[in-house]
Amino acid sequence: MEINRFENRVWLSSPTIYGEEQKFVQEAFDTNWIAPLGPNVDAFEKEIAEYMGIGHGAATSAGTAALHLAYKLAGVQQGDIVLCSDLTFSATVNPISYEKAIQVFVDSERDTWNMDPRALEIALEKYKGRVKAVALVHLYGSPAKIDEIMELCQRYDVPLIEDAAESLSATYKGKQTGTFGKYNIISFNGNKIITTSGGGMLLSEDEEAIKKARKWSTQARDNAPWYQHSELGYNYRMSNVLAGIGRGQLLHLEEHKAKKQAIYRMYEEGFKGLPVSMNPYLEYTDPNFWLSCLLIDEDVVASGKVTPEKVRLYLEEYNVETRPVWKPMHMQPIFEGLDFISYEESSVGKDLFERGLCLPSDVKMSEETQKQVIELIKELFK
Ligand SMILES: *Cc1c(COP(=O)(O)O)cnc(C)c1O
Repeated sequence: MEINRFENRVWLSSPTIYGEEQKFVQEAFDTNWIAPLGPNVDAFEKEIAEYMGIGHGAATSAGTAALHLAYKLAGVQQGDIVLCSDLTFSATVNPISYEKAIQVFVDSERDTWNMDPRALEIALEKYKGRVKAVALVHLYGSPAKIDEIMELCQRYDVPLIEDAAESLSATYKGKQTGTFGKYNIISFNGNKIITTSGGGMLLSEDEEAIKKARKWSTQARDNAPWYQHSELGYNYRMSNVLAGIGRGQLLHLEEHKAKKQAIYRMYEEGFKGLPVSMNPYLEYTDPNFWLSCLLIDEDVVASGKVTPEKVRLYLEEYNVETRPVWKPMHMQPIFEGLDFISYEESSVGKDLFERGLCLPSDVKMSEETQKQVIELIKELFK
């Protein structure tokens, strides 16, 4: 097969917009609700909470803002410890620093690439009495070992915060990720499975907590005719215009999930016989496969014949975007010196980072394009 450089860049995951969003945005214009509150925001919160099967949601300007509010609700303060997934995007753990609390990074396991319950147990024991929350990520849309992690959180009486930014629509034993934690967050950033261009949501069964978060997110105004504040506030609310985009996007969430799953299956089929595997998942979960990832066998990477970086640079020549698996937080310069807890002899997250690559998983990618991407990767292993 003769493959030419793609004229249009093949993306990891880019926004897919339909036009239906405009109906909701138009409503915002027609009713003059161009503000960080309004009917679209209220409706979007209800629609998302209903879709996920959880009591209440507070729409925010970003997933990161929702995370910050979640940590505040959990009572995270200066000097407290938060145990967090090590293999993730920095947004998961940055708000812990906003509150001058301390991250302790918990290594991944190999079955889902998510937080290893065995490492979590070691960490909970080591920091007994100081842990304010556990922050759990479902990486690339593959649900973590939730039962095991929830059992530990209950045993040590520590609230669970789910960062479901990448896993919206994925289920664990039939229940949506982002509904297991005391506080949970999702993201509508441009690269996520559905988008509002930028935005997020905090979710909880606790209505009082969500009301408190909404208040904090609108500058913590007291109920008075003048501007009065007895708490520190933030400008974290989602705009009514962007919530309109979200309502239109939500109509396509299941369709996006089906497409992402088809992309994963096609890679899986296409890579048969190669010394590689893909991002794993538990059989009783239904991942959204936000990103499909490749993991190259150890001996092949060690020999230097094919490495993630070689694949990345080769595909870049064809205008195909790929990216290394998240660099673990314990390896980030900014978090140098913080504790990292692993169950294995050496860090699983570091190994995944060194052998893994995220592949184009865009819902607009045609089968023909994906076939060519697979062919290009296969060439490197010849
Ligand atoms: C995208 C992402 C976030 C942050 O969401 P924003 O809406 O971009 O602030 C948090 N955690 C993870 C794991 C993410 O992938």
